[in-house]
Amino acid sequence: MAVNTCDPALRSWVKSAHAAGTDFPIQNLPYGVGRVLVPETTQAGADVMVAIGDQALSLRRLAATAALDGLDDGVKQACREITLNALMSLSKEQLRMLRERISALLEEARVETMPHRAAVEAALLPQSSVFPMVPAAIGDYTDFYASIFHATNVGKLFRPDNPLLPNYKYVPIGYHGRASSIVPSATSILRPKGQLAGAQGTAPSFAPTRMLDYELEVGAFVGHGNGFGHPVPIDEAREHLFGLCLVNDWSARDIQSWEYQPLGPFLSKSFATTVSPWVVTLDALEPFRVSAYERPSEDPASLPYLNGEDDQRRGGFDVRLEVLVETPRMRDAGEAPFLLSRSNLRELYWTPGQMVAHHTSNGCNLRTGDLLATGTVSGSETTARGCLLEITARGAQPVVLRNGESRKFLEDGDTVILRGYCERAGAARIGFGECRGTVEPAR
Ligand code: MN
Repeated sequence: MAVNTCDPALRSWVKSAHAAGTDFPIQNLPYGVGRVLVPETTQAGADVMVAIGDQALSLRRLAATAALDGLDDGVKQACREITLNALMSLSKEQLRMLRERISALLEEARVETMPHRAAVEAALLPQSSVFPMVPAAIGDYTDFYASIFHATNVGKLFRPDNPLLPNYKYVPIGYHGRASSIVPSATSILRPKGQLAGAQGTAPSFAPTRMLDYELEVGAFVGHGNGFGHPVPIDEAREHLFGLCLVNDWSARDIQSWEYQPLGPFLSKSFATTVSPWVVTLDALEPFRVSAYERPSEDPASLPYLNGEDDQRRGGFDVRLEVLVETPRMRDAGEAPFLLSRSNLRELYWTPGQMVAHHTSNGCNLRTGDLLATGTVSGSETTARGCLLEITARGAQPVVLRNGESRKFLEDGDTVILRGYCERAGAARIGFGECRGTVEPAR
């Protein structure tokens, strides 16, 4: 009999899984990879883990016990790897069995798994003792531009009369990002140097960026890839995605505006991209699937290869997103971070499934562990702008923080924190944890 691992009535014996506002109740069970500090040896190893409350359950440790017996060898081997790639490439059925087993082992009322309780307790580590790593070996990283509000707001700054380019409502715009500089949450971000345009006809200079920005994004990890030369039909696109995480696409706006024509962003983006440690699976997000963004009636229908009945009906995700900043002054004063904006993934013009269908439509092969980011998630409201470029109109209208400080762009020492969570009546609230990074002065 199929078990509903999203059932809001499920309870865990891990007490912190019931703490008010926790991102990681038993209905979530996101996967990640962490380095465990082993005090007695000072050796560090990487474990595949599942977040539960304020704990991280090491699947590597669990796989060494009888607690995972009955699952096939491929599943157990995937739990012993140092990235999530093997786990992401498991079949839907294998992933369902693993999720059901982990849920059962952590559930309060499941007597048949009680003999394994000691083994599970021994595999639980406080999240505070685990260093998060990039969860997958990411071969390729693509960044889309899926928020029409972001595209319009940014377009207005550069082309007041013609903010949205004519291709926008037909093509899911994207560019190939840099996988090597994707870093885990909490990694410091060095202010990059680059070419900055000179004033009116003078030569550019090479200097630290003066317009360092964040971009609030969500990333989708590819589970099953597609063969070279084999496009993924829109009706199957979602099946190729494993789960979602938070992404901060750090951006140097002055470098960007000088370099971007005609081939798009390059060094203004490739210096660093931060991902959150936990990958929330599409299985956990099932209660939060919603219809695709409803296009205004005057907008064109998308072309048939991007227009799927199921994708239109249930291809969106209701994920609430927040971005906060903590300045050095706030940190010294012990003040809480300042909320800069709030938006929602469901307001994207293109669904993650459409991104997969479009990306592969020319025969390009996606591989397990590839990361597809949405682009800045801005909403229709002025309080829902997902980067400082939009919030401050390229620095023209600085944002004033609670303590009276103001920001046009990020300053050295600023910490940017992204958060995401799903919440609705009749479902357990689940969250993404944090994606954070602190700006360090240029060297
Ligand atoms: Mn971006």
